[in-house]
Amino acid sequence: YGEIAIRKNNRKFFVEKLLRTIRRNLDGLGDFYVVKEQGRLIVEDRGGEIDFDQVIPKIICIMGIIGVSPGVRTKDQSLDNLKKVCAEHVAMIGAENYKTFKIETKRSNKNYPLVSREVSAAVGEHILEKFPNLTVDVHNPELTVYIELRNDAYIYSKQIKGFGGLPVGSSGKGIVMLSGGIDSPVAGHMIAKRGMKIDCLHFHSYPYTNMQARQKVMDLAKILSEYTCGIKVTVISVKHIQEEIHKNCNGAYMVTLLRRFMMRLAERLAIKDGDQCIITGESLGQVASQTIEGMTSSNSVIDKLPVLRPLCGFDKNEIIERSRNIGAYDVSIRPYEDCCTVFLPDYPIIKPKLEDVLAEEAKLDVQGLLDEAFATIEVTEF
Ligand code: ATP
Ligand code: MG
Repeated sequence: YGEIAIRKNNRKFFVEKLLRTIRRNLDGLGDFYVVKEQGRLIVEDRGGEIDFDQVIPKIICIMGIIGVSPGVRTKDQSLDNLKKVCAEHVAMIGAENYKTFKIETKRSNKNYPLVSREVSAAVGEHILEKFPNLTVDVHNPELTVYIELRNDAYIYSKQIKGFGGLPVGSSGKGIVMLSGGIDSPVAGHMIAKRGMKIDCLHFHSYPYTNMQARQKVMDLAKILSEYTCGIKVTVISVKHIQEEIHKNCNGAYMVTLLRRFMMRLAERLAIKDGDQCIITGESLGQVASQTIEGMTSSNSVIDKLPVLRPLCGFDKNEIIERSRNIGAYDVSIRPYEDCCTVFLPDYPIIKPKLEDVLAEEAKLDVQGLLDEAFATIEVTEF
């Protein structure tokens, strides 16, 4: 784990959280033994060999973990045994796949009679003898074999990258406004990465929007739940709100007005559920409704909670890359109708003036519509 290691005061709390999450995620996959070592957690299958393909994805998705290294543990830290185990490791991963290598030793066992450099040199020499196709390159090797000398010795050569961040649940709880698009799942993931437990809120306009749209959102929430130890999804119908806007207001304000309703409903739900903030997938200037004027209009209905917009400074291609990374992209690009595309005007207001928005909104029974929408709540848990 990374950032957690530098936390003086609550490191223990964070590490315990990680331990518990790992145990939970591996439940049913084997007889695992999960322990703390300095700066690392060790996962070992008491039943024998670990099925890495099955186990690693279950660990790598845990926030707070910067990487996983599949490796071997050996009790005997004698130089002869280290040479033997390292040679076996190199044979196992296939020496023929590499031309250059180095050995890197980290020694937290300070009683060890040799310094790290001496261990690396001795083991490196042994590898050179055993595998004549390999040469040493200390600056830019194709293969690095790591030896960690702790209470036991650990040998590994791969570091599979995780997301880093902080354990989910260590930074409070928030609600993600989840549409079926590319952006909001990424926004949720980013905030979860910083340790926030997240729930989701989706607005639909059934029957103007179809059931596939709803299924898509559920599939996205399910993907997010892999990273967040479960997730709660609330869906609310804004059908009648949209009909009333369409009937009574200047059509150019549809999205602007709808956003204000969504924000109010999100805040109300958040407070009811004990969420401490609202998270959206907005990115400055990305579409007509995401101008600073649009954000000012939707933000001004919220007075109790902060709205986090983690994607504000990202370009679309950066968001897409993240979406692929978390495995949401293929679901996000499924075609669907969002409620924001219902009754869409040809020319939406791009830079709404708050006084004009208020004048349009005054034509509606805002409170009545909010109460009615709030009564349509349905909840699903993953
Ligand atoms: P996304 O890719 O997340 O759909 P987008 O680029 O399509 O974003 P908009 O449709 O303008 O942008 O929505 C901006 C943000 O408003 C979304 O990221 C999401 O947080 C919220 N939002 C939009 N539509 C909905 C919806 N139907 N339910 C819940 N939240 C929504
Ligand atoms: Mg959208």
